[in-house]
Amino acid sequence: MTYLFSVDIEGISGVVSAKQGAMDSKEYDRARDLMTKEANEAALGAFDAGEEKVYVTDGHGKMRNIVLEDLDERVELFSGRPKLLSQMEGLNEKEIEAVGYIGYHSSAHSRGTLSHTYSGAVVDDLKIGGKKVSEFAMNSYLASKYDVPIFFLAGDTEIIREAKELYPDIPHVVTKTPTGRYSAKCRHPKVVRKEIRETVTEAIKKKKGKVIKPESSTFHVRFKDAGKLDNCELLPSIERTGSKEFIIDTGDIETNYKVFRACTMLATIVSQS
Ligand SMILES: [Zn+2]
Repeated sequence: MTYLFSVDIEGISGVVSAKQGAMDSKEYDRARDLMTKEANEAALGAFDAGEEKVYVTDGHGKMRNIVLEDLDERVELFSGRPKLLSQMEGLNEKEIEAVGYIGYHSSAHSRGTLSHTYSGAVVDDLKIGGKKVSEFAMNSYLASKYDVPIFFLAGDTEIIREAKELYPDIPHVVTKTPTGRYSAKCRHPKVVRKEIRETVTEAIKKKKGKVIKPESSTFHVRFKDAGKLDNCELLPSIERTGSKEFIIDTGDIETNYKVFRACTMLATIVSQS
């Protein structure tokens, strides 16, 4: 069986500004190196526990941040976009034992470092099954369709707090404590990486993990402005309920997830000419 690690950048220790995760920034190479190294230690933790197969999915921005050649040779990397399941690509190969998250951040409007939900430019708020979700929750609900448990999380203290509402004793590593939305008290990357490797190994050996199911698969979405929603109305699977609000309710969490993602893409194709 295979362990899958979904990796974002905003929750990595040392990353406190959106600039650091932007490819055209002078600070980008350093941030992607920090991201690659945290992901690699997670993979090493799984190998230490005796596992033989690890997938890493690059889940930030253009999704080609992680440097493949800097990963352990046994790792296979889902790189680039679009990927059908985005931050959870690999899940659809139906061989996944459990999913771990690296570099995760808290939901939109929370006080975590670089908090947002899926697209900071487009999505103002997202609820699934009536509950406000983070990317952690949304992706975990998707995994529940395949009965795949979540077994590990590394990120700032805010996403750890949000995740504990769904999985109180989730094995985790704190990377930093937010002191503002664009600042944090960061732990040293070497200390964080060592803890990630050890905690992943222990979690696998102790067979930790929990399938996290939503109350229902219905998505309630609010975009940042009404214009971003106009193209989305082309899709028969959404119901617009307000200028910025809509519902996706196909009855299947994976289909809803894909429609939601299609809407975030359509939202960026708005002509003002
Ligand atoms: Zn994210």
